[in-house]
Amino acid sequence: MTRPTYMQINADALRHNLKQVRKLVPSSRVLAMIKANAYGHGLINVAHALADADAFGVAFLEEALQLRAAGIQQPIVLMEGFYGATELAEISQNDLAVVVHQYSQLEILEQQELKTPLTVWLKIDTGLHRLGFLPEEVAEVWRRLKKCKHVGEIHLLSHFTEPDDLYKSTTLQQLACFDRSIAELSAQRSLANSAAILAWPATHYEWVRPGIMLYGVSPFADKIGADHNLQPVMTLRSELIAVQSLCKGDTVGYGGTWICPENMPVGIIAIGYGDGYPRHAKNGTPVLVNNAVVPLIGRVSMDMIAVDLRTQPHAKIGDSVVLWGEGLPVEQVAHAAGTIAYELLCHVTPRVRKNN
Ligand SMILES: *Cc1c(COP(=O)(O)O)cnc(C)c1O
Repeated sequence: MTRPTYMQINADALRHNLKQVRKLVPSSRVLAMIKANAYGHGLINVAHALADADAFGVAFLEEALQLRAAGIQQPIVLMEGFYGATELAEISQNDLAVVVHQYSQLEILEQQELKTPLTVWLKIDTGLHRLGFLPEEVAEVWRRLKKCKHVGEIHLLSHFTEPDDLYKSTTLQQLACFDRSIAELSAQRSLANSAAILAWPATHYEWVRPGIMLYGVSPFADKIGADHNLQPVMTLRSELIAVQSLCKGDTVGYGGTWICPENMPVGIIAIGYGDGYPRHAKNGTPVLVNNAVVPLIGRVSMDMIAVDLRTQPHAKIGDSVVLWGEGLPVEQVAHAAGTIAYELLCHVTPRVRKNN
């Protein structure tokens, strides 16, 4: 017997979620975002499962090289582009596309010789103020890119600040800003991440960039994936490894922060913050034991958590536990831990085995 803690990845759910994207945006191409180890799900397996995607988006060169080494042939876009001139030859050899978001990158492109044409995504800052050229700079940057002999196709993109807020006008203002700054240019455009795919049809354009929804998770604070007909891809599983019969007044876990209000059974589960379970999960965070929700109690340790088994008095060692995924939306766990599902998914540590 090995430690019973593992992550299950449902490739059928990934394919289903990609189909949902296609239904929502039938005439756009899909740049599937698989940066950060495919949001913690495993870069290579996810890329294989999403073979129908038109292209893949990763953050930087090393992530893309892993994909190429695994035989992935789709276009791959480096969403932060390149960090210096030394990366360009390898980018070109591996047929990768780059986002260009600032003048130092443009100057490197103007000075370098490349053997094959490089696809460039020109990034425009429409208000997020993270990466991108200002709207008034776009026409000149476009002209300079066009003059670079080894620059092939040029696409245009921007990224939204709060597309998950349906009551603010920010997204439509950013859309208008984008449209104004590219009015004289003819190119393929991309704006929409998951929230915009779901909520802002006017932003869909030629390419969409879904991330979190591919993994079956809602980008909206008050919704879960199932509300959008998405299926969870990652299920984090473990087992009860001890059951304690505690007395009224006994405390549970470090710091003794949880005090038993009566005699009661407490279950110990083999998962902790060393596995990526959030240490800030509050008392009452939902955990599934034998498919029934029970509340987390006490502090999360590195390797273990405790749950209140008063509603499951017959639960015993070896019984199945789901921390999130099938039967327990990760959005609910994230909410109870004061974070977002993106972070929980990305933070599962390598010591958690994958069983597909
Ligand atoms: C990560 C990322 C996305 C995907 O965002 P989701 O909210 O996960 O859909 C889209 N575009 C860019 C530029 C990104 O970095």
